[in-house]
Amino acid sequence: MAESVKKKVVLLGATGSIGTSTLRVLRAHSDRLELVGVAAHSSHNELAAICAEFHVPHATLSSEAAYTAAKAGGNFPSSTQLHCSDAGLLEVSTLPEADIVLVAVVGACGLKPTLAAIEAGKDIALANKELLVLGGAFVIEAAKRNGVRLLPTDSEHNAIFQCIEGHSHAHLQKLILTASGGQFRDTPLEQLAHVTPADATQHPNWSMGPKITVDSATMANKGLELIEAQWLFGLEPDRLEVVIHPQSIVHSFAQFIDGSILAQLSPPSMTFAIQHCLLYPDRALGVDATTDFSKALQLDFKAPEIARFPCLQLAYDAMRTSGSAPAIFNAANEIAVDRFLAHELAYLDIPRVIEHALSVVNAAPATNLEALLQVDAEARNVASSFTSTAR
Ligand code: NAD
Ligand code: MG
Repeated sequence: MAESVKKKVVLLGATGSIGTSTLRVLRAHSDRLELVGVAAHSSHNELAAICAEFHVPHATLSSEAAYTAAKAGGNFPSSTQLHCSDAGLLEVSTLPEADIVLVAVVGACGLKPTLAAIEAGKDIALANKELLVLGGAFVIEAAKRNGVRLLPTDSEHNAIFQCIEGHSHAHLQKLILTASGGQFRDTPLEQLAHVTPADATQHPNWSMGPKITVDSATMANKGLELIEAQWLFGLEPDRLEVVIHPQSIVHSFAQFIDGSILAQLSPPSMTFAIQHCLLYPDRALGVDATTDFSKALQLDFKAPEIARFPCLQLAYDAMRTSGSAPAIFNAANEIAVDRFLAHELAYLDIPRVIEHALSVVNAAPATNLEALLQVDAEARNVASSFTSTAR
């Protein structure tokens, strides 16, 4: 393939778990993909190493302290222009030369750069789910208006995207999202009160960042993914289901009105979904070996127990309330997880914080982005001042 037709990629969250998997895809397909911009929060040494390896012309650090340290350290290549803070993130997200922006920052901070990238006409590969739960209405509207692709990179949504492509929406009955059940899927319920941040940041199947690993344990992650699916695929909550599948090989199912169910399978590595989005609509050899049916393989499925996963029920409640309730769910969960990781709250406080925020913050629909961000801020305040009843 000629140099000129390489797809130019911006990677937001380059130093994280999705970022690292994306770099593996970029290394394997350097004949088709070129990294033109990267963003991270504070890991400036890692970001500098990425810029040196991939000859990245634009990089940004959201943390001003990290930017100052990076400038003083001088380890970014001289050919990389280093930006900083929120303005830098917006600049890198809208680089004129970029074709596609892979959004792999964690949390609602991804919303503004994603909207800016869409307005600048970039296709979006969306790993970050929080921004869609917060601002789905705005993101979907902007993507339609600008005629850009919103490519689902979260593994479940990528699976569904692959299963439904070429099918009529009218033929779709429901979507069934698989969930590993996380690290406490078989832990006796009475032990959950004593779970520590160290326990909750170890996942049995996936290697991921700390926030999503805790979200997998509580299944707030699956709750966020239900809301994400609602925006991406336009189905009401009653047509979105969750099934526990401990092996994480089937990444989700699409069921059609005639009862046929399609699935997408691959081992638990995000490189499959990332590569699918970055090369879309083309395909090429994957970077990880796929599922091998010559070896014994067991695939189990069971319904989730609501008593173990109250965050899942809260997510359904938020979806059914609609308006700003999903945004409140997300903001309260982000704060609750941060506070749990900082040893300020117990593990079982996470659903309590979300429930409390949903009960006190007004969930009326936000008619503009500023109003939505105000709801987000209010939910964060409420969640930050929640006092644990568990200790
Ligand atoms: P992570 O914590 O490993 O990495 C987060 C990245 O975002 C880091 O590079 C960090 O520097 C950057 N970042 C954080 N705040 C930032 C800010 N304000 N400005 C710029 N950069 C910032 O997280 P992760 O596990 O890679 O997850 C990233 C996103 O992808 C999350 O929304 C998560 O839900 C989603 N996701 C992750 C996985 C996975 O396998 N890890 C799978 C599906 C979806
Ligand atoms: Mg997922």
